[in-house]
Amino acid sequence: MSKILVIAEHGGGTVRKATLTTLQMARDLAAKTGASIDIAVLGHQVGGIAAQLTGYGAGAVHVADHADLGYALAPTWGKVIADIAKACGASVVAMSASTTGKDVLPRTAARLGAGMASDVVGVVATSKGPAFRRPMWAGALLSDVVIHTPNWCVTARVSAFDAAAPTGGSSPIVAFAADPALASARTRFVSFDATASDRPSLDEATIVVAGGRGLKSAEGFRQVMEPLADAFGAGIGASRAAVDDGYAPNDYQIGQTGKVVAPQLYVAVAISGAIQHLAGMKNSKIIVAINTRDDEPIHKIADFSLKADAFTAVPELAAKLQARK
Ligand SMILES: Cc1cc2nc3c(=O)[nH]c(=O)nc-3n(C[C@H](O)[C@H](O)[C@H](O)COP(=O)(O)OP(=O)(O)OC[C@H]3O[C@@H](n4cnc5c(N)ncnc54)[C@H](O)[C@@H]3O)c2cc1C
Repeated sequence: MSKILVIAEHGGGTVRKATLTTLQMARDLAAKTGASIDIAVLGHQVGGIAAQLTGYGAGAVHVADHADLGYALAPTWGKVIADIAKACGASVVAMSASTTGKDVLPRTAARLGAGMASDVVGVVATSKGPAFRRPMWAGALLSDVVIHTPNWCVTARVSAFDAAAPTGGSSPIVAFAADPALASARTRFVSFDATASDRPSLDEATIVVAGGRGLKSAEGFRQVMEPLADAFGAGIGASRAAVDDGYAPNDYQIGQTGKVVAPQLYVAVAISGAIQHLAGMKNSKIIVAINTRDDEPIHKIADFSLKADAFTAVPELAAKLQARK
């Protein structure tokens, strides 16, 4: 293996933490293989993003700047990433296991004929070479995957790696002439409706408060969870049952089929702790469960359990936290 290409994710003019956690995974792999690392930045008017990434020890920061790359559509990004990998001689392409990475990188893998390891949480040395550790069966098992194709594509779970630290130095920025029009013929970006929120995103929040079906309605969810999130400065998540019942938007969902988080503090309010929910939060550093019952699975992994009605206990907790600010 000669080179690992890390794909940058960015938004609002800044590099997302997911880029740096993926870079750390790449460093772990490089330490076991001796490979070098390049970074690729795709988008429109992304010179500033590239400049933010020159101090991380990459051999080069490749920049594909094109109006058709302004939104990360899988057909365009997938193709251009494969083109950059071929041009710079990278045999491994790495991106985070974010919604974007999960969408884009399989396209790149198909174009490169690469084997793929998804949602990787670690890199381990085996007698058959480096293997990618990844959860299976809703996190009930960890498997070590060895890829046998010459090219590899890997998505790295954001919560499983620390953000790579800058190394100093200044990587050269290399312009890449992208031609995404070829791939965009059948897919066109129309609009992006971002949820406006001052709260931290679930991916990056150090405290997450999550509500479940026990909150009984969208109004109940909002009334209980928002003051608690504001008191903690936390991101808000939800169980799938709360999302399916319309209490919370889709992008709040945490779990096997939602987002995976590992904050410093996770407060589960009126959530039973089904295995599919635990798969998305069980690696949180401190887990607090607030539930009317004390025999639910969430209590088995909680560091602190409060047997109480969320509608009275949580407002009280939020008020006490606010008073201490
Ligand atoms: C293939 C598959 C994938 C899935 N993926 C996910 C996923 O990604 N994420 C996910 O969350 N689930 C997922 N699920 C669903 C999962 O199995 C559970 O159904 C779901 O997590 C239950 O959500 P809940 O805990 O909010 O609801 P419930 O299980 O109904 O629990 C509600 C809890 O609220 C408590 N409660 C009730 N009233 C109050 C009150 N006033 N105050 C305090 N506590 C109260 C109850 O005691 C109970 O513990 C998936 C299921 C399948 C089959």
